[in-house]
Amino acid sequence: GVRATLPLLHRRYATAQSVSSLLLVEHKDNNIASSTFNTLTAASKLGGSITALVAGENPEQVATTIAKFPGVSKVLTAKDKAYEHGISEVYAPLVVAAQKTHNFTHLLASNSAFGKNILPRVAALLDVAQISDIIGIEGTDTFIRPIYAGNAIAKVKSNDSVKVVTVRSTAFPAAKEGDNSAPTEPAPESEKSSLTEWVGEELQKSDRPELGSASRVVSGGRALKSRENFDKLMFSLADALGAAVGASRAAVDSGYCDNALQVGQTGKVVAPDLYLAVGISGAIQHIAGMKDSKVIAAINNDAEAPILQIADFGLIADLFTAVPELTEKLKK
Ligand code: FAD
Repeated sequence: GVRATLPLLHRRYATAQSVSSLLLVEHKDNNIASSTFNTLTAASKLGGSITALVAGENPEQVATTIAKFPGVSKVLTAKDKAYEHGISEVYAPLVVAAQKTHNFTHLLASNSAFGKNILPRVAALLDVAQISDIIGIEGTDTFIRPIYAGNAIAKVKSNDSVKVVTVRSTAFPAAKEGDNSAPTEPAPESEKSSLTEWVGEELQKSDRPELGSASRVVSGGRALKSRENFDKLMFSLADALGAAVGASRAAVDSGYCDNALQVGQTGKVVAPDLYLAVGISGAIQHIAGMKDSKVIAAINNDAEAPILQIADFGLIADLFTAVPELTEKLKK
């Protein structure tokens, strides 16, 4: 009896007292994805030590940058071409190897395509539950996350030995670089060969702000009617405002714009200072992706459109006259 109970008590004490998190650092061309800084803030809220994992062909510069952030106590680097592009089949074994060596209590990544791709595979390999898209932290084992497209908020408690968590970046402020200089060491070796191979990517180059982190977003809906109209009206308006362009799913499905622009339950979740919805009705699946915006404005020719119920400012007008007029006025 006594022999069996004592180690258990000891372990409980140890896990409650010594939180140690692993933060997956997403980066490209030596730039760290801004959502990583939001995730770092979430990791800091858990308390304890934070180890940053930087993997890639040339992880050195990113490792030096993340080491400067207050709260980061160590940086693990994995230098290999296989880690470029965040392929989960090679990245997940690396995270699992780091976990086996360092015994973290929490593994965190942002809820971006990168984190959503890798962490569920890590959770499966470790045989623990995945906790997705958290917007709040109530304790080291208790998290807040939206469910049903944000229509309900769930509080989830995990008894797993390690918590595998993706973080909604708009719910946490970005951590700021400081004058920390956390030590760097190589990450444990892991299997790098995989049946999955990176073939290539086609990226649309844009000078406009990035949708996920822009402070202003203008989104177009089905009412734009064509790709030509969408390009002409939405992109001119965005440029006049210094805004990123978003879209409803109806606009994407109708081929008016690229699917990377989709805002909503099955698209991006944004929370800019200003969100302007143009010719978008405001379906719950769309609202799930933008309702946390600070100021919501809408242009719609139907006064009954649901978007106007959540908008701070509504303009009941035909977008084909209102948008060019607004764009001209903004240019002045
Ligand atoms: P509509 O609903 O057709 O609205 C068009 C609006 O434009 C109307 O309000 C109309 O009054 C107005 N309008 C028309 N003409 C003019 C004009 N000349 N001037 C001004 N206003 C005009 N949707 C998303 O957006 N994002 C998602 O992530 C998403 N995920 C989904 C997931 C699931 C599982 C499902 C079932 C649906 C999802 N949807 C999503 C689709 C969603 O339900 C709606 O169908 C979609 O958002 C509608 O897009 P819309 O507002 O552009 O089109």
